[in-house]
Amino acid sequence: MKITVWNEFAHEKTDDVVKAIYPDGIHMCIARFLEAAGYEVRTATLDDPECGLTDEVLDDTDVLFWWGHMRHGAVPDEVVNRVAKRVYEGMGMVVLHSGHASKIFQKLCGTPSGELKWRESGDKEILWVIEQGHPITEGLGENIILEHEETYGEHFLVPQPDELVFISWFSGGEVFRSGCTYKRGRGKIFYFRPGHESVPTYHNPDIQKVLINAAKFVCTPKSNSYKYGWVPPTVE
Ligand code: ZN
Repeated sequence: MKITVWNEFAHEKTDDVVKAIYPDGIHMCIARFLEAAGYEVRTATLDDPECGLTDEVLDDTDVLFWWGHMRHGAVPDEVVNRVAKRVYEGMGMVVLHSGHASKIFQKLCGTPSGELKWRESGDKEILWVIEQGHPITEGLGENIILEHEETYGEHFLVPQPDELVFISWFSGGEVFRSGCTYKRGRGKIFYFRPGHESVPTYHNPDIQKVLINAAKFVCTPKSNSYKYGWVPPTVE
């Protein structure tokens, strides 16, 4: 399986706290544990030509991870449309944390904003496993506890997920649908909430396990494409 980890790679260049947690960027941290799990991984960032997501790269990508936050608007529509087309054709996608407001996730969801409530107050987060036995939760216990995370709260303006895999509770009182799967055309999508840039969430072994499992879950084996348009009768 070939994975491309995309990151806007902005906070890590300008914020010392974030730089200390992810010195080579969030994408490199994610790429390393996916690689250690046996996947073939490349990375791409916003400042690469065509955001690093050329047709050649996408031809060679089974699963695309996406982390973005402050520069969603800088991703050209042409790149967004190209990625969306690939998802409909079967490319898997894992959308991380503030990627809820990315152009690509909005386009795939059909919701304008992925709106939600938020607060940066270092709340504790407990991610409860809702679907035990689901491929994404393989190897996990009942929950994952993150001592400090950014808080997200309902309502989360997304379509009803095909499967709700995790629900988060925050010590400030909010709850949130933190692990949602969707199918668009032949492609599977997994949205996973944790991963704020100023806390070391992607260094947590259980979070890594979720993302390693998710890559496998959203990967659709390549097969013949569906045919659309006029056809002669199938039965004479
Ligand atoms: Zn955040």
